Amino acid sequence: MRPLDEAPEAFWRGVLGVASDFDDTLSTHGQGLLPETVAAMHRLAAAGVPLVIATGRPLGWAEVLMKTLPVRAAVAENGAAALLWEGGRLVASFTEADDAVRARDMAAVRAAVARVKAHLPMLNEVVDYTRRETDVALDIGEAVTVPDAIVAEARAMLEADGCAAVASTVHLHASRYRADKPAGLRRVLARLGLDPEALSTRWIYLGDSPNDAAAFAAIDRSVGVANVARWVGRIDALPRYVAPHEGGRGFVDVVSKLLAERGAL
Ligand SMILES: [Mg+2]
Repeated sequence: MRPLDEAPEAFWRGVLGVASDFDDTLSTHGQGLLPETVAAMHRLAAAGVPLVIATGRPLGWAEVLMKTLPVRAAVAENGAAALLWEGGRLVASFTEADDAVRARDMAAVRAAVARVKAHLPMLNEVVDYTRRETDVALDIGEAVTVPDAIVAEARAMLEADGCAAVASTVHLHASRYRADKPAGLRRVLARLGLDPEALSTRWIYLGDSPNDAAAFAAIDRSVGVANVARWVGRIDALPRYVAPHEGGRGFVDVVSKLLAERGAL
């Protein structure tokens, strides 16, 4: 992980789009979406650079993000679900396209989570339940602070039960589908008529926490906002570069540099 200032000119050349995590990457911890972050998103759109969000939040959140922000698509539930505009309406896309199989998988996850909650009663489901179709999220750091040892025990129980378990700063997600934001992004790029194979070499990815590790590993032009530093030594992969500022100000750092290099400023 090197300071963003050290990224060579080639890092900024030929960028086709920007993909970004939401919590603590576009949003700024404790302050929500800052006006300068929203302005940077609109500057990207005005420059014709597509922005796609990739978050662990549910499909219901993706709908709100799509309807309030200038984004082309929103990958939700850590890659397993997504929303995009098609013919003027929002359509959903899933890793598992068969509705019956998805419902069966979700029932298995709910059963595994019920066993975890019976054993670890301090763990509770998050209250952002607005259309979540592929995973159950337990609150570990949003309304409560759950000790790391409890989170580790819950993860082990879920994995023993055949679930994939991945943590963000705020939630522990249980799913039958491995957390894979880059796979979700590739699926969405193909649906948008963009080249999914370009994601790993021609797109910039921004994130801040362990559920971004797969994207940091798969996408060459990866940048962490400054708060990613707290995960050094505890995350499967780090981004190539780190922005000088935390959260949404770090997103502004990247957009400003990208647009300056493109001659748009
Ligand atoms: Mg995040």
